[in-house]
Amino acid sequence: MPYIVALTGGIGSGKSTIAQAFAASGVEIIDADLIAREVVEPGTPAFQAIQARYGTSIVTDEGKLDRSRLRDIIFQQTEEKSWLNALLHPLINARTRQLIAEATTPYVLWVVPLLVENQLQHQADRVLVVDVDEATQLARTRQRDHLSVAQAKRILAAQATRQQRLACADDIIDNSGEPDDALPQVAELHQRYLRLAATKQD
Ligand code: ATP
Repeated sequence: MPYIVALTGGIGSGKSTIAQAFAASGVEIIDADLIAREVVEPGTPAFQAIQARYGTSIVTDEGKLDRSRLRDIIFQQTEEKSWLNALLHPLINARTRQLIAEATTPYVLWVVPLLVENQLQHQADRVLVVDVDEATQLARTRQRDHLSVAQAKRILAAQATRQQRLACADDIIDNSGEPDDALPQVAELHQRYLRLAATKQD
């Protein structure tokens, strides 16, 4: 089992950007968002269970799960959120464990946007937080997703606070500068994680 470094950060903090820099060093990336999509692909048992519960209106014309409709349902009804979580969490967990076990690099970077919110930090050997202040998060998210100030602020308010996230961090990358400014931090952490991975007892 490789050493597991969980990478997290608030919306627009730069998780994907930083993960790409680690990937360039040859580290295997395990992306929680991708896994969450994979387990509900058409034809999967979870897709069928969701369709059975909500009907065909939850399926798009292309035959895929209408994720924004599903988000609306669980946003409005707590019971449905619990039902969906009970269905998906074990599947996501099992797939994550499988990908980690199959990894061939000394450590894996497990990218989990909602690590702190879902209290998953204890499933990792080490927690790396990508940190920027909230004004930067808002500006970058708005620019990328073309959101209003109110929309971006709503998303931020639904996530853990910067302080809550930093309280869980073993390591922090400051991504407030130019994109290249983070590269030396990535290089240093990569060496640290290789050293830590070498001492991990299975
Ligand atoms: P999300 O949580 O929404 O998936 P994220 O944390 O993965 O976001 P990125 O998508 O990596 O964040 O970055 C958010 C936006 O900010 C992107 O448009 C990215 O190109 C830009 N960005 C990332 N790092 C920097 C930086 N250091 N300077 C300027 N822009 C940056």
